[in-house]
Amino acid sequence: MLGPGTSSSASHCNPIRWVLKGVYFHCANEKNNGYELSSLLSTYGKNINSELNIFLALPIEVTNQGPLIHGGVAFLRGTVSSIRALDWGLMNHELAHNLGNGHSFDGTRNCLDAPKLEFDWDENCDGIISNSEKQRRCWIKTPPSDPICNLAPTCPNFPCCLDDFIDNNVVGNNPQRNAWTNCQIKSAIEHIADYKCEFIQQVGGNCPPASSVVTRSPIEDTKESHCSYCFEIDGSSNYDQYKIEIYNNSNPTNPILLKTVGWLSRGAKRFCIGGTNLSNTWQDGMLPGVPYLIKLIVKNDCGEDVNSYPFILPNRTCSVSGPSSDKKFELRVSPNPAFNNAVIHYELDNSYETKVMVSHPLFSSFNYVASPLQIQELGNYDISIPVSSFFPGINVVILYVNNSIYTETFIKQ
Ligand SMILES: [Zn+2]
Repeated sequence: MLGPGTSSSASHCNPIRWVLKGVYFHCANEKNNGYELSSLLSTYGKNINSELNIFLALPIEVTNQGPLIHGGVAFLRGTVSSIRALDWGLMNHELAHNLGNGHSFDGTRNCLDAPKLEFDWDENCDGIISNSEKQRRCWIKTPPSDPICNLAPTCPNFPCCLDDFIDNNVVGNNPQRNAWTNCQIKSAIEHIADYKCEFIQQVGGNCPPASSVVTRSPIEDTKESHCSYCFEIDGSSNYDQYKIEIYNNSNPTNPILLKTVGWLSRGAKRFCIGGTNLSNTWQDGMLPGVPYLIKLIVKNDCGEDVNSYPFILPNRTCSVSGPSSDKKFELRVSPNPAFNNAVIHYELDNSYETKVMVSHPLFSSFNYVASPLQIQELGNYDISIPVSSFFPGINVVILYVNNSIYTETFIKQ
């Protein structure tokens, strides 16, 4: 038996950083079992020679005693894992297995600074340690308010009420106490150097490169009417700016740039190709059936990363277009109250037909056009307005987005 508190507690330098490269949604007729890692990887794996694949799928092990549901599973020293829920502790644990660390509580452990934490406990308080009271372990910490943590003074308290017996290492079994021990870090790095060189993006320095992903969600692909054609766009947590380029990809060896939207500050979510409400043609003269390519470029101080997605537009069958009514476009006016000049701010998550006006409830003839009817691209907009020439009191800013109207008031002093 090893005593309490023997798990490594000194802090040390941990150079391992995970970079979430992309999130993909897969549609299947059957539920996928997260326990079937090989089949998940061969059916749905992405960039399997350079990225660890994590599946969000309930891992159910079929045993003689019936189904056993795991929090997560991973191939030890492999490149694939699955988790039942998005929990950083759990994900860290499974990825630690991929980097060669076996459980600290069973025979696969390889680090002396993450020992098996076991205890004997006289549970029935008869002064004798029976066999069933030997070599126990804590899976989680028992809350101090639990009656088992407040037994009669003559009986030994339950060790799982104390932090000392709660394993604090990444391949222990407690997602909330998942420190990497010195030995675990070393063995993971050794494993990466020997077997997973292609999985490293950068060694050393404080400047991990940004990473981009552009894809279509399955929901978009199954839409029956196409008023707009949208992409999910995202980048790693460390990018600063992004831009979008669209190419004619009829000749893939020499794509021709059609349009560019850039550089925008971080916050990429969605990019849509639309058109005007009056006709069923796609914007910028784009045509159905022609091969195109969208590129998402993200950058930070360390450099740029490009992700491409080829696509073919369907026929544009637009009857009623317009954003759903729950959108607010972050419309606001500042300063408010205003005296000389003010700025109207709004954010478009898509390409829309827009117009911005200012009106006054008491002076119906006053209709100031802050921005004329036009197609505006995805992005953030600031329009300066000369408030000093407006009527005093409450003014109303009207943002027209396709067929919908959004308003915000401000006071002219
Ligand atoms: Zn595990």
